[in-house]
Amino acid sequence: MYHFKEPKEAYEITRQFIRDGKSAGVIEFPPYITFELVNACNFRCIMCPASYMKRQKQEMDFSLFKKVIDEILRYGSLIRFIGYEEPLLYSRIKDAIKYVKRKGLLLHITTNGSLLNDETIKVFVDNKVDSIIFSFQGLTKEEYCFMRNVRPEMYDKVIANIGVLYRARKGRKPYIKITTTTTDRDKIYDKNKFIKEHLNYTDEVQVTGFTHFIHIDQGSDKKNIWQELGISRPQKKENVKCFIPNYEMLIKGDGNIYACCGDYTDSLLIGRAAEKNLFDIWHSKKAEILRKTINSGDLDKFKNCAVCPIRYKYKNIDSTVVNSRTGRVEKFSKS
Ligand code: SF4
Repeated sequence: MYHFKEPKEAYEITRQFIRDGKSAGVIEFPPYITFELVNACNFRCIMCPASYMKRQKQEMDFSLFKKVIDEILRYGSLIRFIGYEEPLLYSRIKDAIKYVKRKGLLLHITTNGSLLNDETIKVFVDNKVDSIIFSFQGLTKEEYCFMRNVRPEMYDKVIANIGVLYRARKGRKPYIKITTTTTDRDKIYDKNKFIKEHLNYTDEVQVTGFTHFIHIDQGSDKKNIWQELGISRPQKKENVKCFIPNYEMLIKGDGNIYACCGDYTDSLLIGRAAEKNLFDIWHSKKAEILRKTINSGDLDKFKNCAVCPIRYKYKNIDSTVVNSRTGRVEKFSKS
């Protein structure tokens, strides 16, 4: 059904779906499918809800993973290893990469970059993983270390790891990108320096003007997070409707399937991969009812939607993307 040559084509399908005014309907099958392979991370970032959750470590059974990938192969969706996790902690990560790529599907991975080593870099390069995002925080090493709760040596290690991958890749795969979000704590004059510096070992750098803390404020005992960090609370928007469950699917380590990639609360469950195939879950009554509620804007019904960033207005959401291959600079603002 889909025949993507690059990961960005999967996102273009959803943009086209929205542009065509079809977002109130449901896409036949999600053009990209997200896997949270293991519910664990080696970082304890201040801005991540996973840092405040007590979770029993659970990872995806590899035969279930293969069954799901075999079904996705019929549709050709982009596979993404992202989530409230560090995907390189999955014990079968190398097998998972090899399996997806051997089947001919496109694969994207988002990682904090701390666990890369010669062996994983070789697996990325040899199997031609299509794209990798290294997620950062803030615009300086100091802010990264503060927000991510790590020592300066860890920042240096991440930068070194990205450099090794950048030099090792053949055929320009994986496409390497660094993304960061900022807060009031960051100084705008550090932005150009951040971009210039990181373009030395990436294909693309993206800086976005907000870091979300509402879920920390409302989901943990950190009610004073705003004062503690010296940042302002964003304003809530009125009458927000969401159509993301009409084209997104998340599969977690226990095989449960959710209607939004940002579901860290498990409140948007639509089915279980071990019990049914993905297509039937996607078109199930349960998924349809959930979509109807969310599409109508009744977002307080779901724990995850209640604290979702799309419901908040940030003063300065100025997103800049710079591509080192083409030199292209894109700026876009949302409110
Ligand atoms: S969590 Fe946010 S993006 Fe996801 S379905 Fe709910 S409102 Fe939409």
